[in-house]
Amino acid sequence: MKVKDGIIGLLIGDTLGVPVEFDSRELLEENPVTGMKGGGGYGKPAGTWSDDTSMTIATMDSIVNKKAIDYDNIMENFCKWYKKETYWQTPRFDIGITTRLALDNYLDGIPALECGLDGELDNGNGSLMRILPLAYIPDINYETIENVSALTHAHKRSKIACVLYVEIAKSMIENEDLSIDEHIKLACDKIKDYYADSEELKHFQRIFDDDLNDIDSISSKGYVIFTFESVIYCLKNTDNYKDAVLKAVNLGEDTDTTAAICGGLAGIYYGYDEIPIDWISTVDQIDRVLSLCEKFEAFCDES
Ligand SMILES: [Mg+2]
Repeated sequence: MKVKDGIIGLLIGDTLGVPVEFDSRELLEENPVTGMKGGGGYGKPAGTWSDDTSMTIATMDSIVNKKAIDYDNIMENFCKWYKKETYWQTPRFDIGITTRLALDNYLDGIPALECGLDGELDNGNGSLMRILPLAYIPDINYETIENVSALTHAHKRSKIACVLYVEIAKSMIENEDLSIDEHIKLACDKIKDYYADSEELKHFQRIFDDDLNDIDSISSKGYVIFTFESVIYCLKNTDNYKDAVLKAVNLGEDTDTTAAICGGLAGIYYGYDEIPIDWISTVDQIDRVLSLCEKFEAFCDES
């Protein structure tokens, strides 16, 4: 197990996508992203990460400090980031609508597990993008994964998406000999069984049916199901880390989050050494994140 495989994989996907967030697929087909660059709508230097990475490391930092999953402490870390005490790189420059409302709820004194929004329209990818650390925790259960999602995204669809993602990641962490297709199928079978009575399962049907091979049927906007479908598409249609995350970025729209979520799995599957070192070395504060990964791994080993 190497925590840095997945976490740096996620971070690099995020940073590759930041300069072109919300660019259309057509625009990126003409001028595709091929590596780290700065600029774009946010005008940030190359190697700048966004909310996806900040909320992921805020979660890890809480778990390392508390030696447990402490929902209040995770929310406190999220709020530190929200209010621009950085996690850790630059001041915060983006945040999803549902996440903002949930953190406002927490700051208003609402209990952590009641802060998340649970409407049908609250199914953006904002909890999926930060759930990866839980895949490394031995014996993590579905209720805990759902609760960590529900801190911001409390609709069942978002919760199931997080559980499915953690299951795929866990499978990749635990069984190095399987193919990407096999990891996805194993995880899908568990989810179909566990949530057999849920009306929500139908929204995952295209993932279950492996019906994601036509790029024109893939939307890369920020709805959690679209993001999940995009990630599976990118993983299945590439054979290395670099191509997987670049494909995710160049789908356009929610580039950073699609590439972060794709990069987490691609990092685990292909390994840290397959992530281009010149990309990693571009990222300010990367040593601090690597140090956190080591501490988080030590916590997981002791658990
Ligand atoms: Mg982002």
